[in-house]
Amino acid sequence: MRAALIEAPGKVTLTTVPDPTPGPREVVVDVAACGLCGTDLHILQGEFAPTLPIVPGHEFAGEVVGLGSEVSELALGDRVAVDPSLYCYECRYCRSGHNNLCDRWAAIGVTVSGGAAEYAVAPVANCVRLPDHVSVADAALIEPLSCAVRGYDVLGSRLAAQVLIYGSGTMGLMMLELAKRTGAAAVDVVDVNPERLATARQLGCSRAAAGAEELDRPQGWDVVIDATGNAAAIQDGIGRVAKAGTFLQFGVSDYATTATIEPYKIYNQEITITGSMAVLHSYERAAELFATGVLDPEVFISHRLPLERYPQAMEQFRSGQGRKIVVEP
Ligand SMILES: [Zn+2]
Ligand SMILES: [Zn+2]
Repeated sequence: MRAALIEAPGKVTLTTVPDPTPGPREVVVDVAACGLCGTDLHILQGEFAPTLPIVPGHEFAGEVVGLGSEVSELALGDRVAVDPSLYCYECRYCRSGHNNLCDRWAAIGVTVSGGAAEYAVAPVANCVRLPDHVSVADAALIEPLSCAVRGYDVLGSRLAAQVLIYGSGTMGLMMLELAKRTGAAAVDVVDVNPERLATARQLGCSRAAAGAEELDRPQGWDVVIDATGNAAAIQDGIGRVAKAGTFLQFGVSDYATTATIEPYKIYNQEITITGSMAVLHSYERAAELFATGVLDPEVFISHRLPLERYPQAMEQFRSGQGRKIVVEP
C-alpha cells in the first residue's frame, strides 16, 4: 500500500509498505481521511517518536475492511473513527485512571504505524462506529476534538466564566466552540494572524485581537487557555489569569520552551496552572458531540489533499497556512 513515511528527522516521503494484517482483536481500516497536526511536525523534528521510520497520522477515520480472528463487535463496511491512544493498562498511571500519562504511552501514528496511508490497523477497542449522517472523511476531526474535550475535563465546566484563548488555529477554534457550550460569559481570542482571527469572529467569539492588551480587561480572565505552544503567548497568558482563575497549557511547546511564574501571585491570588495531554476517556464523547454538529467541517477543514501530497501538506501546515489539513488516501 501507499503510505507517508517519516524516515529520519526532517525527512518525509511517500513510499510503498506492506499491507497491514490485523491481530486477533484488531481491525484494518481503509483510511478515508487523516489530519495533520503539530504533533506530526514534532515527530518530523525528531521529538516524541522513540523510533523512526514511522508512518505518521493519529487523526483518522475510515471503513473497516479487515477483521481480526476474535473481533465480533465490528463488521466489514462499518465506518469508524479511531482513538489513537495505546495504553499499557499495567503501570501506576494506567492503574489510577491517568492512562494518558502511561509510563509506556504509545499511539497509532506516533509510536506505531498510523493513518497517513491507504490502510491502518487499530484495536477494536479504539474504534467508534459513526452514525450514517456523519461524513467519514470529516470524522478525522474527532481526534483533535477529543483532545479539546479532555482540556475541558481538566478545567471543569465553569458557567459564566470569562475565557481568553491564545491562538485561533484548529485547536484554539475548537476550544472556542467548546467554551461557548460550557456556558462561558465571554470568549475572547487573540492571534497575531489576522486571517485566523477572522475565522474566530466568524465562529462567534466575543472579541478578537492581535494581543490581549487590546482587550482592556485589567482584572484578567477566569480561564486562560494557551493553544499556541508559543513562549511569548504563554508568558503573556500566565500574567492575565484573574484571581482564583486557571491557566491551561493546551498547546504543545518545543521541549526547550520556558516561562516564568510569580510565586507570590500564585499564592496570593490562588491561581491554578495546569495542562492537558492528548486524550483521556474523551474520544467516545467527542465522537458523539461531533455527530451533533458541534464543528462545521467546512470551516475546520481548510484543505483536502491526496495522500501523494503528504510532504507538501506538511510544508503547508508548517507555514501556518489554513486550518486543518487532511490527506485523503
Ligand atoms: Zn493531533
Ligand atoms: Zn500504563
